[in-house]
Amino acid sequence: MYDYNTNQSLCAFPWTHNYSGPRYSRKLCCTSDDVEGLEKTTEEEYLNSPKLKQIRVDMLNGKKISECHNCYKVEGMGLQSMRQNSFRMGLMEKNNEFDKYVEQTLPDGTTFLKPIYYDNRTIHCNLQCVSCGPTFSSEHINLFKKMHGTLDDGTSGGWHTSRTNNNFVVDKEHEETFSKEFIDGLQEKRIKSIYWAGGEPFMSVVHWKVMDKMLELREEPGYREYIDDIRIHYNTNMTRATWKGKPIAELLKPYKNLYVEASLDGSHKTFEWTRDGANWDKCIANYKSFLDAGIDIKLTCVMSGPVILDFDRYMDFFEQDALTPNGFIELSFHRLQQNAHAGFEFAPSQFNGLDPCFYPEEIIVPACKKAIQRLKKTKKVNNPDFHIRWEGKIPVEYHGHDKHLIQMTKNNIGILQYYIDHKIENRERYEDMDNLIEAKTNTIFRDKFHKTTNLLDVLYVSNREAYDWYNKLKYIIQPGKDIDYVEI
Ligand code: SF4
Repeated sequence: MYDYNTNQSLCAFPWTHNYSGPRYSRKLCCTSDDVEGLEKTTEEEYLNSPKLKQIRVDMLNGKKISECHNCYKVEGMGLQSMRQNSFRMGLMEKNNEFDKYVEQTLPDGTTFLKPIYYDNRTIHCNLQCVSCGPTFSSEHINLFKKMHGTLDDGTSGGWHTSRTNNNFVVDKEHEETFSKEFIDGLQEKRIKSIYWAGGEPFMSVVHWKVMDKMLELREEPGYREYIDDIRIHYNTNMTRATWKGKPIAELLKPYKNLYVEASLDGSHKTFEWTRDGANWDKCIANYKSFLDAGIDIKLTCVMSGPVILDFDRYMDFFEQDALTPNGFIELSFHRLQQNAHAGFEFAPSQFNGLDPCFYPEEIIVPACKKAIQRLKKTKKVNNPDFHIRWEGKIPVEYHGHDKHLIQMTKNNIGILQYYIDHKIENRERYEDMDNLIEAKTNTIFRDKFHKTTNLLDVLYVSNREAYDWYNKLKYIIQPGKDIDYVEI
């Protein structure tokens, strides 16, 4: 039996997973860096490309993979990584199902088994979230042009990639090929798990095409049980209520093993800042329509500075009885992750008000500690006891999920603790006035293009202490020109 604890490079995804990115990039999974040079490849071209074969050989030999540095970083923080989770996604862990993938791998890394877990991202999106960029959102392409007057970024297109031009053209032929491969996997009864994300997956034509096909297949002899067992997972910005005039909550009802992660970064005005272009009340109305349709909803949140500074309001809102029909809600945090090789840290030119480490130690450290205490005490978020009580209602392969919930809380707390430690360890860098001025200047420049609000107004209603500090901080009126500070 292959053990990911003994071999700390081994991961199931280079065998079991098919990831197609918003720009048709290939990655080993959503957490890895792009596998360069394999954009728009077919499934077979990708799986048995020289690069993937070498990655499999290296993993089996316990050699670390450069594209996987994010997992190693998470494990180094003492948290559970995607790598460790990979063995239970679409695979039956208890039957050592992964072993058969390894047994059928040739010495040069060639694999004959096809993926069972598909992750498809669309670039189509209606938001320009502050933590996102033109790699993942069509709306951000427009924003980039407005902000910089060009689509050529000159250095790097954003996270996980060395692309420099942010232009994007839909490739219908490639999307057709990908849809066909996906549908082949369904017809072969091979696909066990599907992840739809973006961009905004409910705006994806490929997504609706494949989902419609699943329902068609379900009506064919011998397919019903297979289709009903497929685990379908969404990550949505909750802005979309309808598709072609029909309520999305109703369209999702026929799928029996489906859950939706609502990606809500903060609440109220803080949410409207992080999720640039979204309206809080409308998103919550959509959220409730999903709950009313009986859809299993979980919460996910990019933990940025403004969200931490407003965390009580977030928890107060989502702990309401009306929003926790089973008595609890699952919540997973994501670290900020802005450039490929610096973990969550921003490069100086990107340093801004999203970063928890931007805020003074005496404000952000107590806020992180308070959030940790709240997560430890809550009975409504990731509570494994509630989950056990409802165990009879969830698919059998997810029994034992209580352990995962305990780990998720550890990961959430670990992310906050990481921010605290990182801030204190790098005090000098974060207290450097030039860096802070640059970060505020970056934030103000970005806020000029915000559709609804700005950070100053958000802090005013969410955290007056942070507001006072931010308001007094100097910034540069015209970056690139002679330094001309604004002092309040
Ligand atoms: S080790 Fe981590 S980054 Fe690499 S493929 Fe596995 S889950 Fe993805």
